[in-house]
Order: sequence, then structure tokens, then C-alpha cells
Amino acid sequence: MYIFQRITDLQHYLQQQRHIGHRIGFVPTMGALHAGHLSLIERAQQSTQCVVCSIFVNPTQFNDPKDFEKYPRTPATDCGLLIEQGCDVLFMPPVSEMYPSNGKPTAAPIDLDGLDQHMEGEHRPGHFAGMLQVVSLLLQIVQPDELFMGQKDFQQLAIVRHYLHTTHSPIQLIGCPTLREANGLAMSSRNERLSPQQRQQAAHIYAVLQHIAQHYRQADHWQALVQQGIEQLNALPNFVVEYLTICHAISLQPITTPQLPPPSQALALCIALKVGEVRLIDNVLLP
Ligand code: AMP
Repeated sequence: MYIFQRITDLQHYLQQQRHIGHRIGFVPTMGALHAGHLSLIERAQQSTQCVVCSIFVNPTQFNDPKDFEKYPRTPATDCGLLIEQGCDVLFMPPVSEMYPSNGKPTAAPIDLDGLDQHMEGEHRPGHFAGMLQVVSLLLQIVQPDELFMGQKDFQQLAIVRHYLHTTHSPIQLIGCPTLREANGLAMSSRNERLSPQQRQQAAHIYAVLQHIAQHYRQADHWQALVQQGIEQLNALPNFVVEYLTICHAISLQPITTPQLPPPSQALALCIALKVGEVRLIDNVLLP
């Protein structure tokens, strides 16, 4: 596996790869890799011949500086996992390489059509502007044929999809399914910061999502079912739900009324919560 820290070195290598007819697959990450990330690499290997993984903990998308500082960083283990997975290239730029002059985003580079208004947008001001800033920069640098991102970050995926569409990008975006631990907890780099007991209790998150997914069609009032889920999770020690929302899977508009939509309109159920100091997100598509 080649490891690059400099943009020009990476671009020189990728030019050679394109020259020999290899399609470039790209998996952007913030490191502390787990099986969920590796499943994206594996998916990329199925349809492209040169797979680039980036590890960059992007300071501009953290609205809480403490969260940025505490974000787990395990570069040596990450390299080992990527080599084992047969990844071709790791791009690991220092902050100064990505943002030579400060880099603070002022606004998202395009109109997000309200996609950033709800859920994460409400609780993490500036997060999506920072995320799009780094994703658009990385895409300019790597210029992949295919981009692989997880459905775990549902709103992020919707916003990147909208960005690629609006900018007439030729890059194909592939949304990949969420990998879970044996107890159902969505894999996340942040899980490392949970105590063993919290990690066990966090299994309730997926259980609540599944319960609502199984019953929402029969429920007279979705909101009551959702509220019940919130209360169930809030009853666990140090669990504080930020939101639990049923929304349209594409527009992300929240739905609060109990009418059933026509089956062609996909719905998603998204959650964010704090477990102690650790903020977790998860979601399921509703059947
Ligand atoms: P992150 O390092 O958290 O920025 O995540 C990098 C990419 O991995 C994003 O596209 C995430 O959606 C994806 N990802 C994170 N967790 C999982 C998971 N449990 N299963 C599948 N993909 C994931």
C-alpha cells in the first residue's frame, strides 16, 4: 500500500493509475478504522481497480473543539488494517496540507435545499458546511470515478448526493449498508469511548429503531410511538436523546402526522443521542 501525505505526490500516482486504465475508488474517513470502514473498502474493490482511502480528522466539521480533540486517532492500527484489506493507497494529509491558510468554512458551497435544516443540522451548527468543504476538497484532489460512503451517516450521504447532483459531477456515489456489532450497535469510531457497560446498553438504540420500524404502520399516532422510544432510551443511565425523527429518505423533511405515505415514498428513522459524553447516531429505512 502506498501512503501519501502530500497532495502532489498522490495526484502524480493517481495520474499513472488512470493512464493504465484503472478506475479510482475513494473512501474518505476520519480514521480509527473498524469493520464498517473496511466494508466500504471491500465494496470499492469490487468495482474499481485502485482504491484510495483517506484519513483526515477534519477540524472544520467539529462544532465542539473538545469533540475534535477527543476524536480517537489510531494511525498505526489503521495502516495495518488497510494493508490487510488490500487497500491500494492511503492519503493522510496533515491539516496544513488541506488548509494552508486557516480554512474556516463560512457557508456550504451550494444551496442545500433544506437538507441541512433538521436533525444533525439543528444540533451541530456548521457541521455540514465543514463536511462539504472537506469532501469537495478531497474530491477535487482525488477525482475518483466512484465514491463510497456509509448509510450510517444518512444525512451526510443525502447532502453529498445533492452536492454531486447540483454540481453536475460525473462521480458515482455508492451508499453502503451500516455494519453493526453483534448486539446491534452501529459500528463507530466513537464506540471506543464507551465503557463496556454503556456499550452493552447502547444495544437498546437499534432495538428501539427496529421496534418502531415494525410497528409504525399499525400505530395510530407515530409521535406516541416515537415518544415512547425516546423515553425508553432516556431511562438508561446517562442516555440523552437529541432527536428521534421519522423523515422522508430523500428530502429529509420530518414527518409528524400519522398518515401513511404512498409506498413509493421511502421513509427513514434517524436518531442522535448522547451516552455520557459520547454522541452517537444511527438510522434505519422504514419498510
Ligand atoms: P467516519 O470515519 O466516521 O467519517 O466514516 C467514514 C465513512 O465510513 C463514512 O462514509 C461513514 O458513513 C462510513 N461508516 C461509518 N460507520 C459505518 C458502519 N458502521 N458501517 C458502514 N459504514 C460506516
